[in-house]
Amino acid sequence: MTAQTHPVDHELIEAAAHIARTRCRGDNHTMAAAARARDGRIVTAVNAYHFTGGPCAELVLIGAAAAQGAYELDTIVAVGDRDRGVVPPCGRCRQVLLDYFPDLKVIVGAGERIRTVLITDLLPESYVWADHQLDVENTAPLSMG
Ligand SMILES: [Zn+2]
Repeated sequence: MTAQTHPVDHELIEAAAHIARTRCRGDNHTMAAAARARDGRIVTAVNAYHFTGGPCAELVLIGAAAAQGAYELDTIVAVGDRDRGVVPPCGRCRQVLLDYFPDLKVIVGAGERIRTVLITDLLPESYVWADHQLDVENTAPLSMG
């Protein structure tokens, strides 16, 4: 299987790397994320680690982007602190990102393997939450055969 490839947004990677270098502090903030909104601007965020399940940088970024009126994201990347480079999204983030932005692209890999892939390629045979919700316009009880 060969996934379709897309150009790599190096400016986006550098934006996340800059936040990782300058804003990550100690154990609370160890990851940075940057996303390119549909209108071209870049939104950044860091994770908020907590043992109860604090959100990853990608999830904080979804809220931060919405707070700035950026509801449509085109591409996202996460970069670790201490020069860990690009870090792929965890399983939970893959599911959330897919549900929020089904057309999202994600930058993954390192060095010469750095590449842009579709979120759907990172979560094959995925559960699509919206596909399993009741259609509000068609909520009549199912007839009993
Ligand atoms: Zn995550």
